[in-house]
Amino acid sequence: MVDDNVTPIRQQYLDIKREYPHTIVFFRLGDFYETFDEDAETTSRELEIVLTSRNVAKGVRIPMAGIPYHAAETYLARLIDKGYHVAICEQIGDPPKKGLVHREVVRVVTPGTVLEPELLKSERNNYLAAVWRDDKQAGFAYVDITTGEFAATSFDGPNIANLLRAEATRLQPAEILAADDFLPMDGLRGHKTQWAAWHFESGRCREVLLQHFGAASLDSFGLSSHGVVVQAAGAILQYLQQTQPAALQLLTTLSTYHARDFMAIDAVTRRNLELTETLRKGERKGSLLHVLDRTRTPMGRRLLAQWVSKPLLDVNEIQKRQDGVEALFTRGLLRAELADGLKALGDLERLTNRVASGTASPRDLVAIRSSLADLPSISALFSEPLPALSHILADFSICKAELTLLNESISDDPPATLQNIGVIRPGYSEELDHVVEASTHARDWIDNLEMVERQRTGIAKLKVGYNKVFGYYIEVSRAQAVNVPEEYIRKQTLVNAERYITPEMKEYETLVLNAEEQIRAIENRVFKQICQTIGASAELLLRTARALAELDALNSLADTAAIHDYVRPTVTDSLHIDIIEGRHPVVEQSLSSERFVANDAVLENGEYIRIITGPNMSGKSTFLRQVAIIVLMAQLGSFVPAKKAEIGVVDRIFTRIGAQDEIHAGQSTFMVEMVETANILHNATHRSLLILDEIGRGTSTYDGLSIAWAIIEYIHNHPALRARTLFATHYHELTQLSEILPGVRNYNVAVSEADGRPVFLHKIVAGAADRSYGVHVAQLAGLPRPVIQRASEILTQLEASSGSAVRIEETQVHQLALFPETNPLLQELESMDINTLSPIEALNKLYEWQKFFTHREKES
Ligand code: ADP
Ligand code: MG
Repeated sequence: MVDDNVTPIRQQYLDIKREYPHTIVFFRLGDFYETFDEDAETTSRELEIVLTSRNVAKGVRIPMAGIPYHAAETYLARLIDKGYHVAICEQIGDPPKKGLVHREVVRVVTPGTVLEPELLKSERNNYLAAVWRDDKQAGFAYVDITTGEFAATSFDGPNIANLLRAEATRLQPAEILAADDFLPMDGLRGHKTQWAAWHFESGRCREVLLQHFGAASLDSFGLSSHGVVVQAAGAILQYLQQTQPAALQLLTTLSTYHARDFMAIDAVTRRNLELTETLRKGERKGSLLHVLDRTRTPMGRRLLAQWVSKPLLDVNEIQKRQDGVEALFTRGLLRAELADGLKALGDLERLTNRVASGTASPRDLVAIRSSLADLPSISALFSEPLPALSHILADFSICKAELTLLNESISDDPPATLQNIGVIRPGYSEELDHVVEASTHARDWIDNLEMVERQRTGIAKLKVGYNKVFGYYIEVSRAQAVNVPEEYIRKQTLVNAERYITPEMKEYETLVLNAEEQIRAIENRVFKQICQTIGASAELLLRTARALAELDALNSLADTAAIHDYVRPTVTDSLHIDIIEGRHPVVEQSLSSERFVANDAVLENGEYIRIITGPNMSGKSTFLRQVAIIVLMAQLGSFVPAKKAEIGVVDRIFTRIGAQDEIHAGQSTFMVEMVETANILHNATHRSLLILDEIGRGTSTYDGLSIAWAIIEYIHNHPALRARTLFATHYHELTQLSEILPGVRNYNVAVSEADGRPVFLHKIVAGAADRSYGVHVAQLAGLPRPVIQRASEILTQLEASSGSAVRIEETQVHQLALFPETNPLLQELESMDINTLSPIEALNKLYEWQKFFTHREKES
């Protein structure tokens, strides 16, 4: 498609751009990356840079926006963050004598394939995920090319969409590849990349995987029977081939997993419980992870986040992790020393991957070196065998050979890039030392030239300088120019000075400059060799990095347990939950003046449903979440905020938090509530833990009450359910259920009185709440006294008329609903014709009413 009317460089650009239609092309022109046409409009808008224009043909100007290449990373980061993909198009080779320099896209940067440390968050994995779905099942694969993690799974059953969502919420991928729209992205942080379906084609994906792993069959990856898994994983590999081929060699294995191997936490629950970020602001501070995280290394921080997102189900595995925490918990000194030793370590995991992928800089090797140098002292901390940690220490190597190599080969403080010389330590490469030595004499000669020439010519202010155009020169002031020796050759005249060169000087200059070029070339070569050697040990380094991450995460849990007074829970296969003096780990940290009131939670065989009543703000929701979080902490291997706890393993936690406690913009809250509740009732098992907070709040009282009632009955009676359930409600009527259903017990939040006002004790006690507290709370809220008194009257009447509890019957419904309309004031108000009322008459009416009420108040 050659267009005679455009300039050759425009044609080159168009040819390249055609290959990357949905990608912003950064087109290297000298010291700039330029963008053109629509790309220019996008970058100028998103990056707030000037939009200019450029002539590409006679009378044709097109939009253009450029950024300096050395500042590219910051700009790149901002575009990637907004979900754009950027193709980096570089100039390749030297400019030819005639025509254009060759240009080529060297990589495509997308949110899920960045490698630059500047574009990554150290505390978080940067996942690229792919989803493929057919009629019956869905395949899901994810990769973190900065750490080499590559994993895949599949989902089936009627609930695929929810399962996919839950998995995506757990991992929060930076980018998700999909051929279709079946994964809604709301609530997910990442960006969706729509990718043509043929990339997911089964045979093609299988071929790509076999080729990548050099395998004859996929059996050893546990993949043979999982068609959709192969499709998702294969698509990821193809995507990396197109965007970041250097990263492919880091993916040495693919692990297949089953979501049923760890606790299922649906997307809503994950957010409700604020496991890794808060509900409102999405911040890490205020989350469970924030309280637990006392890690000292980036890899430890990422691992702990994974643990919190993925509690275990296997009692043995949980106990193994608990043993590790306990070993460090009971050894305060070791814990402090380990924390201290870990503190100085770099991101050994990502650094190693940079070396292996060939993107490491000299300073990355220095960072690896200083990390490795700390390993012997960490290893020495475990000179006495600790059985609880031995399986981790078995993977830990002090990497002596690698450290020795880095010590011998890399200078103490090398330049940031290989553009500058001085990376390699003298004494490492004979060839290099030889060139350096040879150039040293020439360099010395030039260094001494100024002094020598001043003496020889008697010109005191003679200077030797260097610039890119002339190389070395001798500068003499205008006034002294007459005194220069005759072999000086004048090169340049400035306002006040003359510049000269001499043939001898130019000879030394050539020696120096040639040597520098040579040194740079040798250093580059030697550096690559060192990276290759270190890269060959990548597996050893990564194993060590992961062992360190595990020690760090365990130490963090032990540290938190010691500081906040946690206890090791007994985890069993029973269906009990028995928490003595439990606390909410996050809320207890956030209270400044008050003390957090500890509460017991006992759910046992046959009595698995608790209905919790109590006034608003008394602590119901906090209690509910606290129980769920303690269970979750126990299963991730952590100690828990309690005096004593026994936890029978929970397979899934479901939460439904009522309308008041959650904001749903633009959706019918009741619909959302019912959809979520349906999900719970369909998917919970008798091993699940259900946290139902104010269900039915989103609709009218009697609707809500009836639905809540029916839901509890269903959970109680359905043979596949009978799940441990905490149900907080303001429907006092629900407490009657404990008389009808043997598995239901009541809890309420104790309230005491001081000066005639209720004081919330935040203490959960057995039994149903005294319902009149609602009226007291109304008083606390500042409702007018007459209203409070009238409400108390009505309450007494209602209770008298129906015995100890209000029965759920049609007649009652009407009686309750009718009562406000029987108020004489309302009747009068309703029958009044305001249009015919004069202002004075209205005022009189008000006066009359007020008198009526004041009178009544005195009477009572
Ligand atoms: P409810 O759900 O009953 O309306 P919340 O659980 O939302 O009440 O609690 C309201 C506030 O009371 C919380 O924000 C917290 O500050 C405080 N609170 C709750 N439980 C406790 C407790 N056990 N100890 C101390 N303060 C508590
Ligand atoms: Mg609440």
